Amino acid sequence: MRPATASAPLEVSNDPWRTWGVTVKRLVDEAPNIFTIELAFNDPRVASEYRFEPGQFNMLYVPGVGESAISIAGQTSAKTLQHSIRAVGSVTRAIQRGGVGMQLGLRGPFGTSWPVATPSAPAAVHDLIIAAGGIGLAPLKAMIASVVHNRTQFDRVSVLIGARTPADLLYHLEYDQWRQAAIDVQLTVDRPDDGWTGQVGVVTLLLERLTLPHPTATRVFTCGPEVMMRYVAKSAESRGIPSQNIWVTLERHMNCAIGLCGHCQLGPEFICKDGPVLGFDRVRRWLSVYDL
Ligand SMILES: Cc1cc2nc3c(=O)[nH]c(=O)nc-3n(C[C@H](O)[C@H](O)[C@H](O)COP(=O)(O)OP(=O)(O)OC[C@H]3O[C@@H](n4cnc5c(N)ncnc54)[C@H](O)[C@@H]3O)c2cc1C
Repeated sequence: MRPATASAPLEVSNDPWRTWGVTVKRLVDEAPNIFTIELAFNDPRVASEYRFEPGQFNMLYVPGVGESAISIAGQTSAKTLQHSIRAVGSVTRAIQRGGVGMQLGLRGPFGTSWPVATPSAPAAVHDLIIAAGGIGLAPLKAMIASVVHNRTQFDRVSVLIGARTPADLLYHLEYDQWRQAAIDVQLTVDRPDDGWTGQVGVVTLLLERLTLPHPTATRVFTCGPEVMMRYVAKSAESRGIPSQNIWVTLERHMNCAIGLCGHCQLGPEFICKDGPVLGFDRVRRWLSVYDL
């Protein structure tokens, strides 16, 4: 986030408890029970100061209902923030019901981001594998947009997407744009429908079939059900990708988002501030403990 200057004195990042007013400008149904909202800050000064890194999340607050952690899926050219949400409980269902025009509170951004090379640290990555399951594509979407933008910093980039059915594939209108940026986009579903001619099976199948010319210079970023991420990591390691090159993003119930309430603790890690993006080596031990 940009440091405050005389012309921008709000210092959006300085107070993690400060909730900014936002308006739902657009709501798009992505898949059964999953929708994407675009949020505009009510105060244009906040809009101009707000910065996030791909992989971070916001706390979205529905007055009178509650607050939930939701990953930042992207930012539009009009500077609205995109969040893709599965309607599962009180907050997420209230946002779905509220629709366009709804007033929400937003705190953030919080948490760690995907360690992609940046203009200030180029050439850190040669090849990239992005593996997503279901709504797990949401925390990866802003990172894919950043890769498209900085495409020359990478050699081979593969995006492997798994979903239960073809109707559950998120952001399908974006795949062509990613492919035009020389990104290898591969899809697989658990249950095909009549029109499906693509792969059937789990996302690790796609990884197992990938050609990996530079395994030690390949990074893997994955998000989805934890069992899927464990298998992605196992498969990547078996292909010669070092475990320190593998990152996962984790979800736990959280209240404060700043490491105080302890709800999101996983072993010694607080998912809100040490994560949500964490090196697989750091969490491997905890992910193997049932129900932790
Ligand atoms: C870093 C991060 C990023 C996230 N990004 C996204 C995202 O991009 N999109 C998205 O849809 N979701 C995301 N989530 C998940 C989202 O925050 C939760 O689903 C949230 O609980 C939804 O709030 P709710 O009030 O609608 O549902 P809740 O009322 O919280 O209920 C959601 C579900 O969790 C169960 N539950 C409720 N409380 C607990 C508890 N204490 N322990 C265990 N289970 C409980 C409920 O029974 C229900 O099945 C993210 C979570 C984290 C931590």
